[in-house]
Amino acid sequence: MADRITVAGVSVDARHWIGGARVASAEKFTDHSPIDGGVLGEVARGGPAEAEAAVAAARAAFPAWAATSRTERARLLHAIADGVEKRLDELAIVETTDNGALLRSHRRGVMPRVAHNFRFFADWLLTLEHDDFDTRGHTNHVSWDPAGPCVLITPWNAPLMLASWKVAPALAAGDTVVLKPAEWSPLTASMLADIAAEAGLPAGVLNVVQGYGAEVGDALTSHPDVRRISFTGSVPTARHIAASAAANLTPLSLELGGKSPLLVFADADLDLAVGLAVEQYDNAGQVCLAATRILVEEPVAEEFTRRFVERAGQLTQGDPRDRATDIGPTIHPRQLEKIDGFVRRAVGAGARAVVGGHRKDGQYYTPTLLTDVAQDSEIVQEEVFGPVLTLQTFADEDEAVRLANGTRFGLAATLATGDPERAERVTARLVAGTVWVNCFFVRDLRAPFGGSRQSGTGREGGTWSFDFYCDLKNTVTAPEGWTDH
Ligand code: NAD
Repeated sequence: MADRITVAGVSVDARHWIGGARVASAEKFTDHSPIDGGVLGEVARGGPAEAEAAVAAARAAFPAWAATSRTERARLLHAIADGVEKRLDELAIVETTDNGALLRSHRRGVMPRVAHNFRFFADWLLTLEHDDFDTRGHTNHVSWDPAGPCVLITPWNAPLMLASWKVAPALAAGDTVVLKPAEWSPLTASMLADIAAEAGLPAGVLNVVQGYGAEVGDALTSHPDVRRISFTGSVPTARHIAASAAANLTPLSLELGGKSPLLVFADADLDLAVGLAVEQYDNAGQVCLAATRILVEEPVAEEFTRRFVERAGQLTQGDPRDRATDIGPTIHPRQLEKIDGFVRRAVGAGARAVVGGHRKDGQYYTPTLLTDVAQDSEIVQEEVFGPVLTLQTFADEDEAVRLANGTRFGLAATLATGDPERAERVTARLVAGTVWVNCFFVRDLRAPFGGSRQSGTGREGGTWSFDFYCDLKNTVTAPEGWTDH
């Protein structure tokens, strides 16, 4: 059927989902698998008309959804989580085929986390309250009012995970949603629409519009009926969205790129530090949080590099569906080209590839480590979004902090040190939304998540998500019999 794409036996509707119905577009775009570049099928290519229809549907559904009790909203979010768990294997294979990240990660970590995102925000919703407080006998009562239709725009590197990280709190808050997934990995968002409908979510509460950002984007982000925009993606797109949202002063949450450091001190457990460094190749380095700048204290730099080269040499690159694979393909020929360009320019400027540094067949790029890089060089300053790490050395804590903070980003930082006091000292001086000490990627949904500087604005997670997706209201009530004006 022309409107459906079949991936590993799973049939996915490739049309938009607007107002509780499938909607086709005259125009389509071709979805490819990064595994072998093969064509998966044709997806509806939305434009301003579809964006307008989706916002109208979200607006029409808003009053009833906002008035739905918290208990009922929470029940429906749990029902969506049940649906995700029921279709976990299908979601995992479709996501892997569509974006090239490892199947075993999708099965074991990512898709369970998608379900958890819905359960977490459902449960949090039921506990949401501030203590009332008193001002000269008057009671202050803070409430979280649903804000209205929200536009949620997501990237391709963790499609359903990032979509659910936004959809779940927005729905929990009583908002309605228009989700625009990335055009390089559109499929699981469409499956989520089916799962939500099967769970009983009313029509129009969740809408999914497919297409290129440049074609549907402005109509969504400049729309006067949209009350919140949450975007995860690149800095240039964020600038565009911020400008477009400015017309209505629509509140924005921006989760953007990074160039995060891994600081390895001489007192660190070197094997642990090398393990943390090699982990940065996950998802072929296409991870916003990846600590792509390895900073090593001079006395251990040689030994660290030796052990790193050995460990990186043991990584298996290939088909992400294969259980033995550690690193899959890059998402798209354009991304591969971009990565290769960064490395070629760095090497041209004097960098040395001690690991990798070249393409392989298809859309694969070898895990790469570049040394002899200058702090102000492009390869150190710009996000590559591929399996490319740089290594620099430092003489002392001051230099480590200066290098670590020396980019326009501030998403995350990782420290490897055996000295807890040093960890505390250095952490206090780092500009980063998340700091991991002797660990990486440990996430608790109660914690704030986001970036400083050009890595983003605002924080998501726990109460921060509700604060964003709601209009906070303070009601001040005079004590009974109050007459003093
Ligand atoms: P991107 O900015 O190119 O695209 C992201 C989304 O924005 C896509 O859905 C795209 O269609 C849409 N878009 C593009 N132009 C638009 C426009 N004019 N109006 C509205 N929407 C538009 O980013 P990408 O290449 O898909 O993702 C990679 C980037 O995302 C990297 O920079 C990465 O660091 C970042 N990222 C950040 C986080 C985080 O939590 N901080 C997480 C994952 C990825």
